[in-house]
Amino acid sequence: MTFNERAHHRVAVVGAGFGGIGAAVRLKQHGYDDVVVFDRGDDVGGTWRDNTYPGCACDVPSHMYSFSFAPNPDWSRSFSGQPEIWQYLRGCVVRYGVAANLRLRHEVLRVAWDDASGRWLIDTSQGPYSADFLVAAGGPLAEPSLPDLPGLSTFTGEMFHSARWNHGHDLTGRRVAVIGTGASAIQFVPEIAPKVAHLDLFQRTPPWVLPRGDRAITELEKRVFRVFPPAQWTVRAGIYWARETVMGTGFLHPAVMRVAQRVARAHLHRQVADAGLRAKLTPRYTLGCKRVLLSNDYYPALTRDNVEVVTDRISEVRPNGIVTADGVLHEVDTIIFGTGFHATDPPMATYTSGRDGRTLDEVWQGSMRAYQGTSVVGFPNLFMLLGPNTALGHTSVVFMIECQITYLLSMLRYMDRTRTDALEPTPYAQEAFVADVDRRMKGTVWTAGGCNSWYLDRTGRNSTLWPGYTWPYWMRTRRFDPGAYRVVPTRRTQTVQPKSVQPKSVGEDR
Ligand code: NAP
Repeated sequence: MTFNERAHHRVAVVGAGFGGIGAAVRLKQHGYDDVVVFDRGDDVGGTWRDNTYPGCACDVPSHMYSFSFAPNPDWSRSFSGQPEIWQYLRGCVVRYGVAANLRLRHEVLRVAWDDASGRWLIDTSQGPYSADFLVAAGGPLAEPSLPDLPGLSTFTGEMFHSARWNHGHDLTGRRVAVIGTGASAIQFVPEIAPKVAHLDLFQRTPPWVLPRGDRAITELEKRVFRVFPPAQWTVRAGIYWARETVMGTGFLHPAVMRVAQRVARAHLHRQVADAGLRAKLTPRYTLGCKRVLLSNDYYPALTRDNVEVVTDRISEVRPNGIVTADGVLHEVDTIIFGTGFHATDPPMATYTSGRDGRTLDEVWQGSMRAYQGTSVVGFPNLFMLLGPNTALGHTSVVFMIECQITYLLSMLRYMDRTRTDALEPTPYAQEAFVADVDRRMKGTVWTAGGCNSWYLDRTGRNSTLWPGYTWPYWMRTRRFDPGAYRVVPTRRTQTVQPKSVQPKSVGEDR
């Protein structure tokens, strides 16, 4: 295949969720028109397209869980449901005119850096492409994770993951097993419990659950937001700083979480009268170590006569049910997995190879690392959105995405100005960044809270979360810092464009 046979674009974005759509819009607004956005799905929306389980909603308030450049005065509730968030993202595509940039039903199969041309070669299910820049916006919570349970393939009933809900399978009158008690399960369990004949909820670790302060946004509020947008900006800023101050501080100083634990215990006490069930549902680690869950109807659902919380370990799956370590067979005809996602081993790492031909997976060896959570040594012009250590436990990831897009735009402008073809971080900059993240992570509730969570990778490192307040990340991504990068020579560079970039040391830049 010659380069001429590949459709070439300045920027290729992989993933059309919040990250990909946000990037496409902002790039367009800044004059970068030659941008394509690949997505394997037949619509935009990412996780908000894929997660259609009953009760699916966001537990970050909508005024914050949206783009700052695209306020929506019409949010119906303080915590919006999945259909409304998905609709919002689809609306952004129309509002900012990026539909023509979309390449839907294009599954990206392989991505490789080509040093000679200074381009990314991208093989998709619909043909080959190339691009000067690659923006990886696949999202950390896109690929469902299924547990490797003995005998699972022998099960003769219906089974599916919460992110691939089978709406064609009527749960009315069924005997259902739900595996997992994370953010997804606690939302759909109360929805399905009244319908099913019996529900066995397989709980490995009980989550901390706080009351959910959800309410309808009044027509008057919406009108005020419409005619006086600063009112909505003020609400957004209030939510941002309240979460930074209260929750951000709690995550960094686990002792502060004791107050929240008292609130959560009182919530459990109010909603569950049975002391035996309460004991099963009481966590034995510090609140915040796993994602804090918000629900007013989860505990009441577990007190129903047709619901049983099973805490014995699953030992095997049989054609007609699940056997636990105590030898009991729990007969079911449906298994629903609320078992989370491949957050620390994203698929893009297996199909993206850099300058030396190694994939991200091979380079990372089980623990993701990137400068600013966005750029990786050996992978020039690769830009990750919500890459390593930039997911959050306490506020909106859309905020982090916007910080990263600002940084990306600044980097592109810099490269245009200096006529640079390819940049990658220096090993020193990346190592210093990762060491700093690891140092800040020590003693936080995520590492010292006494739990195991999807935040930790197989080496035990927290390679997913940003360790603390988000405003320092905001500050450090406002402008591209060329001193942390080095020029990667390409054939184009050597023959066409003399370079003038003189990287300074990272220390100089900070
Ligand atoms: P999750 O938080 O990773 O929870 C997975 C659950 O499955 C855990 O309870 C886990 O138990 C259990 N599990 C995994 N493997 C198991 C096995 N082999 N046997 C028994 N149990 C097993 O997944 P999630 O609920 O889908 O949520 C993932 C993330 O998505 C959340 O943390 C959040 O960031 C996001 N999310 C947000 C919302 C929202 O905004 N409301 C809603 C849904 C999801 P252990 O705890 O023992 O590991």
